[in-house]
Amino acid sequence: MNYYSLNRKAPNTSFKEAVIKGLAPDRGLYFPESIQPLPKNFFEDIEHHSYSEIAYETIKQFVLPEIPEAELKRIVEETLSFDFPIVQLNKSISTLELFHGPTMAFKDVGARFMARCLGYFNQNNTEEVTVLVATSGDTGGAVAHGFLGVKGVKVVILYPSGKVSDIQEKQLTTLGQNITALEVDGVFDDCQDMVKRAFLDEGLTSKMQLTSANSINVARWLPQMFYFMFAYKQLKSKSKNVVFSIPSGNFGNICAGMMAQQLGLSIKHFIASNNENNVVTEYLKTETYNPKPSVQTISNAMDVGNPSNFVRIQEIYNQDFSKLKQNLTSYSFSDTETKKAMLEIYSDYNYVADPHGAIGYLGSKEYLKKNPEVHCVFLETAHPTKFLDVVEDVIKTNLDLPKQIQSVMNKEKFSVKINNYSELKTFLLNTL
Ligand SMILES: *Cc1c(COP(=O)(O)O)cnc(C)c1O
Repeated sequence: MNYYSLNRKAPNTSFKEAVIKGLAPDRGLYFPESIQPLPKNFFEDIEHHSYSEIAYETIKQFVLPEIPEAELKRIVEETLSFDFPIVQLNKSISTLELFHGPTMAFKDVGARFMARCLGYFNQNNTEEVTVLVATSGDTGGAVAHGFLGVKGVKVVILYPSGKVSDIQEKQLTTLGQNITALEVDGVFDDCQDMVKRAFLDEGLTSKMQLTSANSINVARWLPQMFYFMFAYKQLKSKSKNVVFSIPSGNFGNICAGMMAQQLGLSIKHFIASNNENNVVTEYLKTETYNPKPSVQTISNAMDVGNPSNFVRIQEIYNQDFSKLKQNLTSYSFSDTETKKAMLEIYSDYNYVADPHGAIGYLGSKEYLKKNPEVHCVFLETAHPTKFLDVVEDVIKTNLDLPKQIQSVMNKEKFSVKINNYSELKTFLLNTL
């Protein structure tokens, strides 16, 4: 499959180049040249197929032939070595748990898939690729784990000092090997700005191949289609009117859901559930897209003021506002509402949701008020113990720590402190 840049000022490129470059040379996001719906019988007997088989069928048109069939099957199988269960809360609401991977956030799937693709492309290559990534919390850990030990790839993670949870920090600073954590004296936006500047800096790009592991990278974005297929596999016999409520930040996950729908998956509607970072909620009300600086909330992975994948969503709907509105509803919720929802989910259903999932739940409830006939599935995007302080404080209960979390708690943190861009550049050129 070839990909074009959404800025349309760069040449079309292969899957391989799109993965290695991350962003097109004109700074546009890559988008597949065509999307072929899957055959009807794929959906008709989806319940008879394993997760790996479903994932392979879903992604193959976007990857073959640059990664051959057998290799792609192996990559998909290795990526999906954990479960994606649906838990039903009541007759109208279920949750799809996406937190059973090694770092207990949904980003594990995209990071593991991308790491294996880069590993494949690099196996006979003497030129190293450096993955440079800024994180507000979950991306760092997922990328660090996904890329640990991958030959020919070095990973540099920038995170804002003191602004990620203790567990998130442990997950990205304790692995060693080809993973380095840079602790930035600043906020997430400062990390993001430094990463963007590095990609534009010829003093760096002429000396090293830099790529991104954020959801702008097609190899991290597209595997997220799998979740929606897996939900359908489990719910098919129960309901035909499935609506997904997706806690959204950079809108990569929801945009992947829309791609799955383009492939023919029966999805009735999408709900973008947001915290107070509400650019898209406002856009759907006013048709004016007005990016803003992000505000800090308890659902920190969604503190995004200008969602990078929104341009892809507009491409899917041919920039047609009314078409988009038919398919997408968006709500925004405050921290107070989020905490109330966490408590309600716990007391009514004996289920512990993290703040992001709770926002997905709120979106489902709101939509059901006017559309009582549908079945809403909200994505539970992280395990509640990743946000231990907030969750325990709200539900007044101590949580057991899963083994993935326990295993990093007592490891020793190692990070390199940097204060500004020139220190990042020096590090990349001289230390790495
Ligand atoms: C990254 C993340 C999100 C937001 O996902 P996007 O694809 O950026 O919209 C939501 N919840 C959690 C827990 C996350 O880590």
